[in-house]
Amino acid sequence: MSTGSSASARATGCEFLLRAPLGVQTPEDFDADVRLMADAALQFARGEVMPVLDRLDAQEEGLMMSLLKKACDLGFGAVDSPAEFGGLGQPKAVATRVLEMLSPNGSFATTMGVHSGVGQTPIALFGTDEQKRRYIPPLARGDYMGAYALSEPNSGSDALSVSCRATLTPDGANWKLNGTKMWISNAKWAGSFIVFAKVEGERFTAFIVEREHPGVSVSAEEHKMGLKGSSTARLVLDGAEIPRDNTLYEVGEGHRVALNTLNLGRCKLAAMALGQAREAIHQTAKYARERRQFGRSISEFGLIRDKLARMASNVFAAESMLYRTVGCIDDAFAAVDPSKGNVAEQNRRAAEEFAVECSLVKVFATEALGHCVDEAIQVHGGFGFTEEFPVARLYRDARVMRIYEGTNEINRLFAFNRLATKGGLNAALDAEPTTAAGALFRHAAMAATKLDTRTQQVDAGLSDLLALTYAQQSVISRADRMEASRHPRSEFARACADYFSFLAGVAAYSRAAEVCARVGGEPPVTPELHGVGSDDRIAAAVLEGSQYPL
Ligand SMILES: Cc1cc2nc3c(=O)[nH]c(=O)nc-3n(C[C@H](O)[C@H](O)[C@H](O)COP(=O)(O)OP(=O)(O)OC[C@H]3O[C@@H](n4cnc5c(N)ncnc54)[C@H](O)[C@@H]3O)c2cc1C
Repeated sequence: MSTGSSASARATGCEFLLRAPLGVQTPEDFDADVRLMADAALQFARGEVMPVLDRLDAQEEGLMMSLLKKACDLGFGAVDSPAEFGGLGQPKAVATRVLEMLSPNGSFATTMGVHSGVGQTPIALFGTDEQKRRYIPPLARGDYMGAYALSEPNSGSDALSVSCRATLTPDGANWKLNGTKMWISNAKWAGSFIVFAKVEGERFTAFIVEREHPGVSVSAEEHKMGLKGSSTARLVLDGAEIPRDNTLYEVGEGHRVALNTLNLGRCKLAAMALGQAREAIHQTAKYARERRQFGRSISEFGLIRDKLARMASNVFAAESMLYRTVGCIDDAFAAVDPSKGNVAEQNRRAAEEFAVECSLVKVFATEALGHCVDEAIQVHGGFGFTEEFPVARLYRDARVMRIYEGTNEINRLFAFNRLATKGGLNAALDAEPTTAAGALFRHAAMAATKLDTRTQQVDAGLSDLLALTYAQQSVISRADRMEASRHPRSEFARACADYFSFLAGVAAYSRAAEVCARVGGEPPVTPELHGVGSDDRIAAAVLEGSQYPL
């Protein structure tokens, strides 16, 4: 299978601030085999998952596990895990596309996303060969689920402050783990957990914990507002005894495992958000076509058409950012060379390189989803507020995506701070912006850094400007490439790129003006705004097939 990545030279993190992209990964680059697999994933979600959502939400005994097993039998459970250990060994872009297509429902998406992502990735990237041999094949087969246990009752965003403790037994053969992990997705069904604890109360370390290890138990399910089909429970470690060989990576280096796993996990989360956003567009367009008021279909009203156009443009932007990012990450992993030694360390660097982009994509895609499900309810009117239509569940399920894998506040702060502290900011301020949003970012960032008046509010505003810059550049580049290759949907792509650029210009101007006002800098110049007329063409394309057309 090929992702058709056309990047002529390997990109580096935050390069989008320095120059226009030469060639970036887009979903249109996938070859026929990848498209076939993505289509099979979508058919699986539609045929096997969507008809049983009520039963899934009731957590019917055995149902989620049997669906996961079926998905694993089709190869969807370990698409990017190493082939020599039972995975398919495919690039992350392929795994991302498959997960996106598996994700019209949030509960199933979360279960699969955790199982195939944060439940396996730490072992694939940081595990010894023996650990990979022991754990990846059963996870790939779906013999049991994988889970990731970082959060605790008193340690959420401040993830490295865990109070879970690990001490060696007197003979040095085993670890004893004590503590409680909270909010653990898949906990009810998981056979293995990636657990983080402090050795002797200080050295933050990752461990592979099996459900069958003595002293391990799972508490009752949390009563959640949504995502009811996904298991979320506490993992209780009461003197849990695990072999010393189950230390994952090095003692005291657990933060590298945790944070880099989350970098990659954020892209998977964005894929899950996009799968749900596609479903929201589908349900909204279908309803808009059917519903009549004032003697006409409501899909004829300008305000309804504009909602569909905004939903589709934002999804187009999130998708363009996501596949560009995973394409860059795949290139970074392709450069890992076992002959250069310490593969885990090389993997760590590859996973870290695009950390800023991963955070921007996570925030942008989950907020695009939030916008889509909100408008989905609005277009359904009063019926949207009932359980009679599927959008109420979509709305409830979507909300958590702005909270887990790092809240959107934490990701916003991280993205700009990392750019500022890793030295990329000065180069970005010296470079000529390639988009309207980029020019507004530079103006606001210059004001904030010159006046040295950064606060969290300022950093979050600059982070939004970074995201809009990355998004605008990505949509233009994708539409250009689709036109150049005479893609049958290139007109739709151009309309989305134009309309998104219009929306991004307005949003970036507002954010830049706010940042400048906060730091006492010169207000920005109003950008030239084009593309406002494209919304109707986008709405027409969405309504034609009652779906996001790409
Ligand atoms: C359904 C569900 C599934 C989950 N699955 C998992 C899982 O599988 N594994 C796992 O380990 N965890 C999981 N989590 C936990 C999730 O990652 C945490 O909820 C999240 O990291 C936030 O932590 P918290 O809930 O303690 O909120 P807090 O950290 O207490 O944050 C509360 C609020 O304060 C804000 N805030 C915190 N610090 C700052 C700061 N420095 N500056 C500005 N604002 C700040 C936050 O953004 C948030 O708005 C899950 C959570 C849910 C709800």
